[in-house]
Amino acid sequence: MEDLTAIELRDRIAAGRISSVEATKAILNRIDRLNPAVGAYLSIFHDRALETARDVDRRIAAGEPVGSLAGVPIAIKDVMCTTFGTTTCGSRILQNFHSPYDGTVVRKLLDADAVIVGKTNMDEFAMGSSTENSGLQETVNPWDRSRVPGGSSGGSAAAVASGMCFAALGSDTGGSIRQPASFCGVVGLKPTYGRVSRYGLVAYGSSLDQIGPVVHTVADAALMLNAIAGHDPADSTSVDEQVAPVSDYLEKLDEPVEGLKIGIASAFNAGADAAIQEAVNKAVDSYRSAGAEIVEVDMPHLDYAIAAYYVIATAEASSNLARYDGVHYGHRSEKANDYVEVYTKSREEAFGKEVKRRIMLGTYALSSGYYDAYYLKALKVRNLIRGDFVRAFERCDCIMMPVAPTTAFKIGEKVDDPLKMYLSDIYTIAVNLAGIPGISVPCGFDEAGLPIGLQILTPAFSEAKLLRIARMHEAQTDWHTRRPEKNLKL
Ligand code: GLN
Repeated sequence: MEDLTAIELRDRIAAGRISSVEATKAILNRIDRLNPAVGAYLSIFHDRALETARDVDRRIAAGEPVGSLAGVPIAIKDVMCTTFGTTTCGSRILQNFHSPYDGTVVRKLLDADAVIVGKTNMDEFAMGSSTENSGLQETVNPWDRSRVPGGSSGGSAAAVASGMCFAALGSDTGGSIRQPASFCGVVGLKPTYGRVSRYGLVAYGSSLDQIGPVVHTVADAALMLNAIAGHDPADSTSVDEQVAPVSDYLEKLDEPVEGLKIGIASAFNAGADAAIQEAVNKAVDSYRSAGAEIVEVDMPHLDYAIAAYYVIATAEASSNLARYDGVHYGHRSEKANDYVEVYTKSREEAFGKEVKRRIMLGTYALSSGYYDAYYLKALKVRNLIRGDFVRAFERCDCIMMPVAPTTAFKIGEKVDDPLKMYLSDIYTIAVNLAGIPGISVPCGFDEAGLPIGLQILTPAFSEAKLLRIARMHEAQTDWHTRRPEKNLKL
């Protein structure tokens, strides 16, 4: 059952071949069995999930209309506000936080009759590339439990890869959907900035954050995007649909893009491990054999993406995280002797090391006298990077590159060396700076049996085309059908 895709399960439930209660029970049992070892979920909603499933089954039996995700067990990264359970952001400062409202994406999933089975682990406030910065729990890679699942949406990727849900939501500020998807051998889509509402997504870097699906197939990514895309009056950065219309992303998914031109930045790609370059080149070759033309694109400013990103993201984070003050909500120190100590001790006790490091970095970059040298400079570099993509897309429909320079690394390998960790984001970060959409699809395995992802990028608001291009690869390969089952014998 857990081998089905979300669409297959949805269709079987709708046709009465399987009940949502059956599917939900199977998933909950699997979570109870596997989660203690994998650590993908922070919270699991047994009763609530079964209640939703029963309601969906009843409505289907009564011939009533149901939503596009009716009865399908889905997980949500614990950075999206839900009125049920807690919303921790992987942080001890929000460990007992109950949101008074549902985020827009959560509302949309519920409106589509999805069965929300639980909330997944993540790097604290989405800061990290391995989920090791979670203040609450460790998550391991289902393909090799001595390795990280990637991050920051590592819990969502591990949950999908290990069959503990049929689809999940993640958030991507600098790669946090695409990189864990590639480390765990699943599909991860970061939509264009503004395509999906961020209302109820706890902010990390507000000008970079975007919510998207982590799933098994490109069609499931389209299904999920259909459910969550669109303008939201509660988020002024979500784009007006008159300006950038939302398509039905499933509609023409199987139509190959005619006369496809693929851009490759060879020099930039050369930084990845040999096995990764080989797998990516093979994928590009399969498009070439199907008639695509390959063009070399020059992306001179991508080398500066990490430096620019870690100034901009930390600057925004330092401002966003000022709200955790021990007064409004979240952890409050019991050791405070006066009101200043309520702030300082609460933050000192409950924020993790990486979060503190970034608050300090960001505050420094924004401080008077340094603002022009760091923050403003980084914004200028961001503009140049955006320009690189604009110029490249004049010559091609999409750009293909690795998702990460390595496959899943060992737990503990980089966590004490923040710079090393930051450098692992080289292929994903520029995409958020430019605001464009990107997808990671499975394209092979390295010699250690670890999954490799192919990253595909297209211009802003062209998700329909991006998904069609990704689907062309999937239609010719079976990487997306591989499961880590034998590594999960528990
Ligand atoms: N690894 C990047 C960071 O640590 C990106 C994280 C993300 O996309 N949320 O900031």
